Amino acid sequence: MKILFSCLFLLIAELHAQENQCKQNFIDIAALEQKRFASSNNDLTKTFASSNFSIYYSRCVWKVDPAVRYIEGKVTSYITASASTNSITFDLTNSLVVDSILFRNQKIGFTQNANSTLDLQLSATLNANQKDSVTICYKGIPGNTGFGSFIQTTHNNTPVIWTLSEPYGARDWWPCRNGLDDKVDSIDVFIVHPTQYKATSNGLLQSEITAGATTTTFFKHRYPIASYLVCFSVTNFSVFTNSVQLGNVNLPVVTYVYPESINDFQPFTYKVLDAMQLFHNTFAPYPFIKEKYGHTQFGWGGGMEHQTNTFLINTDANLMAHELGHQWFGNKITCGSWQDIWLNESFATFCANYYAEKFDTSFFQLILTNHLAQITSLPDGSVIVDDTTSVNRIFNSRLSYNKGAYVLRMLRFTLGDSLFFRGIRQYQNDPVLQYSFARTADFKRNMEQASGKDLTYFFDQWITGQGYPSFQIQWRQNKNNWANIKVYETTSHSSVPFFKTPLTLTFKNASQQKRIVIQVNSNGAETWADIGFAADTVLIDTEKQLISKNNTSTKIKSSNTTINEIKLYPNPVHDNLYISLKNPSDKKLTVQIYNSVAQLVAQQQFDTIGQDELLQLAFSPFPKGNYIVKVNGGNSTLLITKIVK
Ligand SMILES: [Zn+2]
Repeated sequence: MKILFSCLFLLIAELHAQENQCKQNFIDIAALEQKRFASSNNDLTKTFASSNFSIYYSRCVWKVDPAVRYIEGKVTSYITASASTNSITFDLTNSLVVDSILFRNQKIGFTQNANSTLDLQLSATLNANQKDSVTICYKGIPGNTGFGSFIQTTHNNTPVIWTLSEPYGARDWWPCRNGLDDKVDSIDVFIVHPTQYKATSNGLLQSEITAGATTTTFFKHRYPIASYLVCFSVTNFSVFTNSVQLGNVNLPVVTYVYPESINDFQPFTYKVLDAMQLFHNTFAPYPFIKEKYGHTQFGWGGGMEHQTNTFLINTDANLMAHELGHQWFGNKITCGSWQDIWLNESFATFCANYYAEKFDTSFFQLILTNHLAQITSLPDGSVIVDDTTSVNRIFNSRLSYNKGAYVLRMLRFTLGDSLFFRGIRQYQNDPVLQYSFARTADFKRNMEQASGKDLTYFFDQWITGQGYPSFQIQWRQNKNNWANIKVYETTSHSSVPFFKTPLTLTFKNASQQKRIVIQVNSNGAETWADIGFAADTVLIDTEKQLISKNNTSTKIKSSNTTINEIKLYPNPVHDNLYISLKNPSDKKLTVQIYNSVAQLVAQQQFDTIGQDELLQLAFSPFPKGNYIVKVNGGNSTLLITKIVK
């Protein structure tokens, strides 16, 4: 609670300060993840494993002593050849020394290359779809291309080793496929370490077997996993276990914490249990429900969503919810390209925001204010990454994290909760995507199928398009308190000339207020709405549903100069149709109503028309359908319009 309180306090103090000052007071997950990425390797496409095989199971034995920066590994990969071949290539840094490689119990030839690859010369040809296995024995000082793909350090004078491979650091310490194109279906991890320590990894702990001064800790994980999500850590952990009820499953939540930090962790894990139930009930079942979830403390300044076992520095609720959200968005479904990083990061940010919305509403309001200010601090920028050679662009907190999360909020507002969450659930359960990879088009397809709506305009505006709208509202009210509303819109970037969107307006006076939602489909479009009282003010988007800025509303005084301004409303009509007239040139009017087959179904004459007249026509006698309403004055037709009932 201390950490959260100080964070919240600073946020309140900084609410009206400069954006860059505000940002520093959030735990800036994007900045931390970006830092990690930036320092790992500047060549983002650098994975060179050959495409002629996939790995369906890895049995990993890693021998480490936290006091020494060194690893001894024996990794057996069960593979499926995708084409007839007698050579395959793994990713593995050549700073590690490969001792031997076994294929069908025989040693085979291999070559380690400067581009962090390992070529295997198989002693027999594998046919397409043929399964086999290879065992790679290696040792040495791991690479450390990341901010910490393999860290050996101390905490409180006690040695610790942890791994943090995202995005390309796995090959720094084990032979694997290092890209976003293949997941291993399951892994077994054996950590061999000095007995005074404990080891943690992905999946379920199977055994800790001690033989003298050495303990072998065995973890088993039976879900597909990307290589960057495989992890382990070893030190003198204290371990405590909570549990959370998810439907009829009581899921263990296991925390590995430095002994000196246990009082900073144990009291706050209930927050991640709350978040777990929320996400499980809202999105889809926890993706690894047959195993566990857990946290492992590490010394890196943020969090990393290792599958089933998030590594994090502290129990900040926003950080825990973000990394937990990644288990659905990032781990179960992984972005299939760095262009689509928002499928990981925006969704995890949305998850953390959604947790705050449900459990800490004042903090949620601060998030909305802060993110909105940050997103609109520049007039441009798309959620889709337009330059994948730039790490700053990929992990841009304004666009890939916060704008994308806000776009999801807007999609929820546009579709309504029911359709939005139905779409999210369908996306999570898509048999092609789950436990695999997705692109933006895959998410769009699911949301369209679930909602029955064409969302091309929405994704064009908000995902590939740049910038945001500014709304100018002009409004006035007539005698019976109906409001006439005209909406004008300007945009901050030429890539989107107009944002089509629902928009919330709040009409109010000293004692009353009414919220309405209008659909803004074209510039200058006009709408009528029954407000029910005389308002003096109109507020725009008070709930912060939209990314927008510099909005204005202006009350227009009724003009006496307009001749023959005639408005019919509402449309669609229910019981009564109103005809509003300003300065009609004729004092007598005839109104005719035709049905869809052009038969005259009603006619009414009005005499003594005034300057600011409001006529009422009863529509309740007519069945549902399309009608033509004709307003005639003198010898001319003043208006013909289609009305729907
Ligand atoms: Zn993240």
